[in-house]
Amino acid sequence: MKRCLILGGGVSGRAAARLADLTGFTPEIISDGDGADIEKSLENASLVVVSPGVNPISSSFYRAARAWADAGRGEMISELEFGFRHLPHPERLLAVTGTNGKTTTTELTVYLLKALGIPALPAGNIGIPLSDVAADLLERKQPEDSLPVVEVSSFQLERAVRFAPRAAVLLNLESDHVDRYPGGFEEYRQVKLGIFRAVPPDGRIYGLSMTPESARRVVYRKDELRLDGRTLLEMSQTSLNAPHNRENLAAALELILRIVEPEQLFTAAFRDAIIAFHPGRHRIETVAERNGVRFIDDSKATNPAAVLAAIRALPTTASHPDIVLLLGGLDKGMDFSPLGGPLIAERVKFAVLFGECRAKIAASLPPELPRVDCGTDFAQAVDCARTHAVPGDIVLLSPACASMDMFKNYEERGNRFAALV
Ligand code: ADP
Repeated sequence: MKRCLILGGGVSGRAAARLADLTGFTPEIISDGDGADIEKSLENASLVVVSPGVNPISSSFYRAARAWADAGRGEMISELEFGFRHLPHPERLLAVTGTNGKTTTTELTVYLLKALGIPALPAGNIGIPLSDVAADLLERKQPEDSLPVVEVSSFQLERAVRFAPRAAVLLNLESDHVDRYPGGFEEYRQVKLGIFRAVPPDGRIYGLSMTPESARRVVYRKDELRLDGRTLLEMSQTSLNAPHNRENLAAALELILRIVEPEQLFTAAFRDAIIAFHPGRHRIETVAERNGVRFIDDSKATNPAAVLAAIRALPTTASHPDIVLLLGGLDKGMDFSPLGGPLIAERVKFAVLFGECRAKIAASLPPELPRVDCGTDFAQAVDCARTHAVPGDIVLLSPACASMDMFKNYEERGNRFAALV
């Protein structure tokens, strides 16, 4: 029997092992630090599948497997690619990537497709590995005509050679995950653009900020959303009216237009579904109003572009600057310079810094912006933000960083913020 070596034993690695088992391989999972003999494991393997969490720079197992593949001893692919290769109908797949908005766009696309009666399934980076979806389909645990909509991170695009969705969207490209790529932003950009490698030209969709309006079927005219020149609905009826969510909705509609007739989008059921959809938790979520101050949890904002999107989404009041902004967390080698721009200077009255890279962020903020350093004491940071807000102000947790220096994940950080508030 062929042996499949899987790097990384998390959710994706276990899904890959399940799929390997179903498709005639004997799987072996190994993770850095577990004492495995990588050379011996490679000796016996014909295929290596890499989980997205395995870092090509810091993982010695990754480096050994890459040398093994480069020497022509076998093939090394990502978990995404492995799942894709075993889908019964790979030609039905839709894919979403970008620096920000992937999860929202994936969830929205699935939600809207279901409103049209199409059995769409969320998959990928959203928490359901494509290998699990493929295994479910092979075991007939999902309907045969299921249509996976895959959220794809840059990590999963590495070593995805045949991955060929029917249509894919690249929402935007901003500084993030620089610690993973020795070639910096340019290398990250190239990896992201790789999503289109095997996509037919009519299935390559770019986000609003990356496409001229003349090239799009979905456009916004003030409050109106138009499709092929016809009004579909008024955006103020929806929970997607902020600029970044308009971008996500346009992307979802463009994806859907690749697989259904446009007429279906003009039905009441479809419009109602757009109106009923709400972005997920920890994304510009109001968690309390106290003494005239609004407290907003945007813990999912893990890079500067997401912070700026949040600020643009908050309506200006008469008395701005009106935002007390909580910033900080894990250092991913990020470029924080976008936080030094005019938007922050105009809207933010006070910055509260916490976590590992607080000094680096402080150095990027507009020099005249008042700020305080709260070390690694999150309770103190939230309390400090509260004391600097007056009625009419907003306290915004939109940290621009990953959370793992002080929390398990962004959900825990957001929940802790809400509890402290
Ligand atoms: P991802 O899966 O790419 O991290 P999410 O939909 O989970 O995207 O959103 C992550 C963060 O980015 C949230 O703070 C959200 O408000 C913000 N965001 C969502 N969509 C966009 C977008 N299109 N552009 C910029 N920021 C966005």
